[in-house]
Amino acid sequence: MKKLFLFICLTFLTSGFAQNIPYTILISFDGFRWDYTNRGLTPNIELLKNEGVSSLSLQPVFPSKTFPNHYSIITGQYPQNHGIIANFFENPITGEKYSLGDTNAVRNPYWYWGEAFWETAERQGIKCASYFWPGSEVELDYRRPTYYEKYDHVRPYSTRIDGIINWLSLPFEKRPKFITLYFDAADTYGHRFGPNSKEIDFTIASLDSLIGNLVINLKKIEMYDSTNIILVSDHGMTEISKERFIDIDKILEGYNYKVDGNGPMVFINSENKEITQLYDFLKASEKNFKVYLKDEIPNHFKFSQNYLFGDIIMIADMGWSIMTNKDLENWGKYFNKGNHGYDNHHLDMHGYFIANGPSFKKNYKTGTLLNIDIYPLLCDIYKLTPKSNIDGKADRINFILKED
Ligand code: AMP
Ligand code: ZN
Ligand code: ZN
Repeated sequence: MKKLFLFICLTFLTSGFAQNIPYTILISFDGFRWDYTNRGLTPNIELLKNEGVSSLSLQPVFPSKTFPNHYSIITGQYPQNHGIIANFFENPITGEKYSLGDTNAVRNPYWYWGEAFWETAERQGIKCASYFWPGSEVELDYRRPTYYEKYDHVRPYSTRIDGIINWLSLPFEKRPKFITLYFDAADTYGHRFGPNSKEIDFTIASLDSLIGNLVINLKKIEMYDSTNIILVSDHGMTEISKERFIDIDKILEGYNYKVDGNGPMVFINSENKEITQLYDFLKASEKNFKVYLKDEIPNHFKFSQNYLFGDIIMIADMGWSIMTNKDLENWGKYFNKGNHGYDNHHLDMHGYFIANGPSFKKNYKTGTLLNIDIYPLLCDIYKLTPKSNIDGKADRINFILKED
């Protein structure tokens, strides 16, 4: 009798009540532009799209770079609030530097002011895992998902898929409910060859096969029907050219200044506090870029009120690059054909969003979604209380969820 009761309880736990909480895999294809699925190269993604929800595009936050956007997706906050304001930046007060290539900085919780979804979820009893995601490696146990992998740029893609399948094959109590997964290829080849190249088309097709493999493997372990697959990208990509550059050292000859960054967006700091003169001069030279004092950045960028910002911000027009003399020395040699980081409202900077699985509507197409709304969406899926002061809003996105 006792045994029968235990059996009923276990069956209830593993199939009934507990399985109402779905599994979710959030997959980021870095730099996968919103229109890459319209090239007839993505039959596997097309299946997920037609069976689930797809949006016209996914609007990134400014600056449309990798770390600020991945951290916005997973925290629901703008960079001005979550603290990862660029891929590379400096604390002007202490001189400490953050860089995506510096493992110590990337793992230092000091820079991460947001609450990642895995923190919210783990605290409320949902086990999480991350096969790469900016912010997932911080050196504080309670801020990380239960399972995580340290970023390894060259880790074979098939090993990453195997890792996910292994996690989802764990015994029920150990199995993570929410998993992130990341692939860089569309960004890497988009930079190198541009968004309109045959090389990027080849990359798009191979990323699509990867999704095909994932689906086959999920079906093999009988997890496909209970798993949400959310496909996102952090930003898009636009063509740049060798001819379209802004020589910042030439413009500011004679001034004392420091330039942080290059390409689509740079901070300019004055070395002897002549900020107003520098700004006035740049404003008078405004051609193929826009310049703002840090307190006067237009509100639609949601990029102000943060002491980490430089005194002056310059944003290049789409396809233009702001370069110092030092940058220009290598400009010809290492020339890239694509870039991102520009105005996040421009469609070329938009990413993609497709969601498929038990939580989502079927065959539902919607307009542009905002990536800061993904965190509250995930909270809704798992019926969790979100962090209170986020920028994302559940009611701008939760109409894509299946009605209970
Ligand atoms: P970007 O195109 O400059 O905005 O950044 C893209 C690069 O970010 C990729 O090529 C990756 O090498 C790097 N990256 C992405 N995720 C991570 C991570 N979790 N840790 C370290 N680097 C990463
Ligand atoms: Zn990126
Ligand atoms: Zn990139």
